[in-house]
Amino acid sequence: MDYQRLLQDVMAVALAGERRGRPADYIPALAEADPSAFGMAIATVDGGVFGAGDWEVPFSVQSVSKLFTLALALAEGGDGLWHGVGREPSGNPFNSLVQLETEQGIPRNPFINAGALVVTDRLLELTGDAAGAVREFLRAESGNAAVDTDDSVAASEARHGHRNAALAHFIASYGNLRNPVDSVLAHYYAHCAIAASCRDLALAGLFLARHGVRADGSRLLTRSEAKRINAVMLTCGTYDAAGEFAFRVGLPGKSGVGGGVLAVLPGRGSVCVWSPGLDAVGNSVLGVAALDALTTATGWSVF
Ligand code: GLN
Repeated sequence: MDYQRLLQDVMAVALAGERRGRPADYIPALAEADPSAFGMAIATVDGGVFGAGDWEVPFSVQSVSKLFTLALALAEGGDGLWHGVGREPSGNPFNSLVQLETEQGIPRNPFINAGALVVTDRLLELTGDAAGAVREFLRAESGNAAVDTDDSVAASEARHGHRNAALAHFIASYGNLRNPVDSVLAHYYAHCAIAASCRDLALAGLFLARHGVRADGSRLLTRSEAKRINAVMLTCGTYDAAGEFAFRVGLPGKSGVGGGVLAVLPGRGSVCVWSPGLDAVGNSVLGVAALDALTTATGWSVF
């Protein structure tokens, strides 16, 4: 298969649509992103890496990092994680507070901010450096030692992070954080503010296509754990648009407000697409359109 040609074709289909969206501006450092940036990469389980457009340009991974914190927390700490966070779609925006009170400080799933704060807390407890663990994992899987936190983005998030701070304190009030709120928030911002490219993230997502096996052949997760992460990505990875994403794309996917979306083709490979223009829910408009075109053209699907 000519993957590069395929990527160019599906990006052209996405660009032919009229909607573009706007970069996130609630984190001021993200508002500076170039709205015309657009890149896409595929990494295959047999070792191929292909890309088109701005596929090697680093961008702010934001909530795509939540996939890696979840995988690492499960790998290090096992199933006990699920006592502190659920796996049910929230049907609410990613930064919503409303369900936390009725659900006694147990967030609905690991991919809304509330749930990601709990996962970051557990990973911090298990490793002593949650953001560092995510950076190391991304570097090892991508082979790119330059993957790092963009401190200016992390600082911008921290300055404007009233909502995340509120979520963390609220969760802590129910006894569901084991580290000080400030440390949890600092690690959360630091892993969200990692800059990586479509190439880096497609390679880093391959362990899910390989059913839990890392680039060096070692096993991070059991086959069953990898399957479960894919399931949670499908049902919760794109927030309150997860139904629409499953309908249009038909693959497990995780988005971030930097405009990245990472999708998994179990047994075959992983795809990352990036364009900073977001829809109202916070998913990349061109990114979702390109994945829609990709799966429509190829028939790739988990169904
Ligand atoms: N760091 C961002 C936040 O906490 C992540 C949100 C996202 O990518 N959906 O708001």
